[in-house]
Amino acid sequence: MNTSKNLSFICGWGRFPCIEANVLDKIDFSKSFIPRAYGRSYGDEALYRNVYDTTGLNLFLDVDFEKEYIEVQAGTQLKKILEFLLPRGYVLPVVPGTSLISVGGAIANDIHGKSSKGVFGDFVEGFEIITPKDVYRCSKEENGELFWGTMGSMGLIGIVSKAKLKISKGSQYIRQNIIPTKGIGKAIELLETFDKDYEFSVCWLDAFTENALVMFGDYEYYEHLPLDLKFHFKAFKSKKTIEIPFVMPNFIVNDLDMRAYNIYYFNKMPKGESLVHYFDFFFPLDNIKNWNRLYGKRGFLQYQFVGPKEACIEVFDIIKSYKIYPYLVVLKRLKNTSNRVFSFVKEGFTLALDFPVREDVLNMLYKFDDIVVRYNGLIYMAKDSRVPKEVFQYVYKDQIKALLSLKAKYDENFILKSLMFERLL
Ligand SMILES: Cc1cc2nc3c(=O)[nH]c(=O)nc-3n(C[C@H](O)[C@H](O)[C@H](O)COP(=O)(O)OP(=O)(O)OC[C@H]3O[C@@H](n4cnc5c(N)ncnc54)[C@H](O)[C@@H]3O)c2cc1C
Repeated sequence: MNTSKNLSFICGWGRFPCIEANVLDKIDFSKSFIPRAYGRSYGDEALYRNVYDTTGLNLFLDVDFEKEYIEVQAGTQLKKILEFLLPRGYVLPVVPGTSLISVGGAIANDIHGKSSKGVFGDFVEGFEIITPKDVYRCSKEENGELFWGTMGSMGLIGIVSKAKLKISKGSQYIRQNIIPTKGIGKAIELLETFDKDYEFSVCWLDAFTENALVMFGDYEYYEHLPLDLKFHFKAFKSKKTIEIPFVMPNFIVNDLDMRAYNIYYFNKMPKGESLVHYFDFFFPLDNIKNWNRLYGKRGFLQYQFVGPKEACIEVFDIIKSYKIYPYLVVLKRLKNTSNRVFSFVKEGFTLALDFPVREDVLNMLYKFDDIVVRYNGLIYMAKDSRVPKEVFQYVYKDQIKALLSLKAKYDENFILKSLMFERLL
């Protein structure tokens, strides 16, 4: 049976690295492959010579507003689910910084967001997974080891085919409170002081000037909305997007442009309290389709780690001493998770830093690695394409053992493989 759809040139979201791959439209365990959905992971975890494209699995299977769950096929995009739920006054409790990812991708990285309530996996009630050994239904009660082990397993245990997700009451509007400040130390203090008072929190930082916007938010429920928004509540307010039509030459984004853009953004954002649409609060980058093309042919990297606040401050000291400034900086606070086999999420602060791919940048990132190692931090694999093997093996040491022993149970011949797997494991 020919299960191959076509040969495609595919990349991670950072457009680094890229590979010519055979795209399979059926699961075929006679060859090594990795499941791949919308390719919003930045590096090489959804890349391999064969990839199984999950985006055709995009049906809604069941929804129950009283019991508060929705069941969907695993290639369904969060955007599609939210466009259905929001006008009905419901939400997914945890969403990342883009709506353009699949449920399977969200489970495979156990993604986190701005929510203080937990991470994506905390609100997964169950799923079906197809492993080279067999097909399993998993929940906390049934095949619990596989249920927790699949979360964060980067597609290396099996293919999640459908999932039942918890939904909760919410709103299409968020009351946000933006507090401007200067310096990462002050931003951390503000997050520490006020995040307990809000459901959502995040901080945007301009590395050039150290201006920061600490953003908090809560749902603005129907009863409290102004009349005009109440009137439109039951219709989804769609957002206009602009598109970057092709990959730009390498000089399109540079320090001067980004310095100017960041000053403009800092001044433009409303300070204090205001009402914003759910999509503007959670997914501001989705308004520009293919914004990753702005970084040009060589692509870009996002370095994301979690560690204590001191680690974040030291990383900023390195940035200042090298004078190599990230174009986007996002700071969040994370709380511990439990039961996972392989997980990025632990107590601390997480910094995500975007850089164009350049020799001097790569050299500086080794210094960041040293800090992460020294503070017992972790590097987020959903964003990675360059961490040295010895750093990865050191920071994730026990988790790697546990992941590999789970893999030996369900994929003993190592059928499921990615470029990241070959690079680091
Ligand atoms: C603008 C932007 C903002 C982001 N913000 C955040 C954030 O705030 N928090 C966060 O945690 N992440 C964030 N991310 C990262 C993103 O959420 C994750 O990388 C996510 O896993 C991508 O999902 P995807 O559907 O595109 O999957 P892909 O990138 O295609 O694949 C990601 C991983 O999931 C596996 N996979 C995909 N489908 C399945 C399946 N059905 N069964 C088993 N494994 C599968 C793949 O093998 C791969 O290992 C962001 C990414 C972007 C581009």
